Amino acid sequence: MAQDERAPLRLTIELVPETCWYSNLRDVLPRPAWDTLRRQVYAASGYRCGICGAKGTLHCHEVWHYDDQTHIQRLEGFRALCTLCHHVKHIGLAGLLASQGKLDYQAVVQHFLAVNGCSQAAFQQHYRAAFAEWRERSRVEWQTDLGDFTPPASTNDARQGPA
Ligand SMILES: [Zn+2]
Repeated sequence: MAQDERAPLRLTIELVPETCWYSNLRDVLPRPAWDTLRRQVYAASGYRCGICGAKGTLHCHEVWHYDDQTHIQRLEGFRALCTLCHHVKHIGLAGLLASQGKLDYQAVVQHFLAVNGCSQAAFQQHYRAAFAEWRERSRVEWQTDLGDFTPPASTNDARQGPA
């Protein structure tokens, strides 16, 4: 069954610009606060992957919006993701892990094809577009806006400076 290749994909690649690699909530929050937050995210998702519905090990994915005009990255929320969906989101890292023999890269690609019901060509097209966007966004410095998730001032001691 061929899907309309212009239809929005359920599972997309979300590459974090290189200039933002250490600007994330997980690195800002004290570990217990992060653990509390991610457990809430898993519970709200019914302990299933928010994209493909798989049970098992979940990861708390930070959903960021990148404003290419103002160069502000804003934290929009969180999504519980299974391991394979999470590897698709960060497929650059998945490629690195695969090159170190730590991950079956084809399993990640196959998961993308299965969840989206799309062709290998559609995957390649999406992959190229995601990396082109990543290269452009990695050229600029981003300001981080944690939005509704900005921790109280007392926890800012744990904040890491920009890389
Ligand atoms: Zn999933």
